[in-house]
Amino acid sequence: MSLDVIITGGGFSGVFCAKILSAAGYKVLLIDRHPETELGSRFESVMLDVDTFSKTAMERPQGDELLHLLDQFYAYSPSARIKKPIDFSSILVNGYALLQRLFHEALENNLSYLQAEVKGPLVENNRVSGVGADRRVSGVELKTGEQLKARLIIDASGMHQVLSSQLAALGLPLSEHPLTLESEYGIAYRRMCQSQTGDSELHIYFSVEGGYVWRSPNDIGVGMMSRVEPEQVKMILDQAIEQFGWEVGEISQEALGKIPLRYPLTNMVTNGFATVGDAAFMVNSVRGGGISAGLKGAKALAEVAKVALAEQDLSQERLWEYNLNYQRDVGAQLAYQDVMRMILMNESVENMEFAFERDIITADDIRSALGGKILDFSTMQKLQKGLRGASNPSLLLRFNHRLNWAGDLHKHFKSYPSEPAGYAAWESHLHQIQEHIQQ
Ligand SMILES: Cc1cc2nc3c(=O)[nH]c(=O)nc-3n(C[C@H](O)[C@H](O)[C@H](O)COP(=O)(O)OP(=O)(O)OC[C@H]3O[C@@H](n4cnc5c(N)ncnc54)[C@H](O)[C@@H]3O)c2cc1C
Repeated sequence: MSLDVIITGGGFSGVFCAKILSAAGYKVLLIDRHPETELGSRFESVMLDVDTFSKTAMERPQGDELLHLLDQFYAYSPSARIKKPIDFSSILVNGYALLQRLFHEALENNLSYLQAEVKGPLVENNRVSGVGADRRVSGVELKTGEQLKARLIIDASGMHQVLSSQLAALGLPLSEHPLTLESEYGIAYRRMCQSQTGDSELHIYFSVEGGYVWRSPNDIGVGMMSRVEPEQVKMILDQAIEQFGWEVGEISQEALGKIPLRYPLTNMVTNGFATVGDAAFMVNSVRGGGISAGLKGAKALAEVAKVALAEQDLSQERLWEYNLNYQRDVGAQLAYQDVMRMILMNESVENMEFAFERDIITADDIRSALGGKILDFSTMQKLQKGLRGASNPSLLLRFNHRLNWAGDLHKHFKSYPSEPAGYAAWESHLHQIQEHIQQ
């Protein structure tokens, strides 16, 4: 069978991309190492942005898929003495049910599915032409070293980045700046359980240096923006249960995994190839939420790929439109939010308590970090903050410095180059901005 598209990874990004491209009549093969009934099984409850469905034209969650609409949201200082109500909505869904629906819709469009371990990309004549894979069924290896080819190869393998991480060694680097997967990730840990909170409420406690703990109607969890051992993350959650006196029911499921931090990969395409989702660092790093950003990425990629496949032009130049559309819209927002993460999660608990108490970190700042509008302070607002934070000038300085650079980073992504020729200069300027932010 000659294939149009091979997608590695049956998470939300890969499955949604597969669904759109198969609906357009293309022959798509989706590969994942897990059996098809297990796709999405670790997503019993996930929080999504409310705009996910309008922005991707995906049908809203139905029946059992919809768990809760969250419209009450509270942020707490480290001691929980100060509680700020935040006007921000999101949606809790049964991710397994939603992902399995999308997958079955794609199968109805003649999507082919293969359970196999993808080993790496095949590169021929300066383009990605296929993948190498070992077939497996329920853990039993059937065939090793198989080569599968298609016109377009998509990496949606999440944090594994099984294809994009090998491209540089094969002579097709996506960027001059190496991937920094080793350092740029955090850890999230969730326990599914009744948490005795109101039906539509989410509570976030900035009680840990470099992270936070949360409580929603059906789960509790920790997001840490640094490398922490799994045992330590579990201990942080146990301490929070004790410190805040949460009453939690029996645990029905646990999940722990890495989450990418930072802004999206600045170039996501090369000849015959594109990457999407966690594999492309599409994540709101404040919330550790990558599903909405990945679904928007899958939609952006699939729309460009549909036309490129029809025009029989899968060159980097043709696929560049995907970079352009994503980076100037969602990428700019994610880059901004990543600096907000540094503001919210790089301070000591003492400084955070002070910032909450003096309203140096306001409800607006937190809403903006979660995915609200980009902040632009008037001189008067800056002055008011300055007076409130006068007894801790270094904190205020750091906060304002990062906030200014967050705005610059956002503008820089908004001016993402329309063609590959402008990319090197754009990327080099990006790294200068990053250096200022780190100072
Ligand atoms: C504990 C925890 C809680 C989270 N909660 C939320 C939340 O509430 N909301 C939210 O938006 N995000 C949440 N996230 C983040 C979210 O899970 C990811 O951002 C999202 O799943 C990324 O989707 P993806 O499709 O890009 O990749 P993934 O979901 O990681 O899918 C990648 C797929 O590729 C397959 N694969 C990888 N390597 C290979 C290979 N070599 N061969 C074959 N197959 C391969 C894997 O089996 C997997 O199915 C959470 C993460 C964690 C760890």
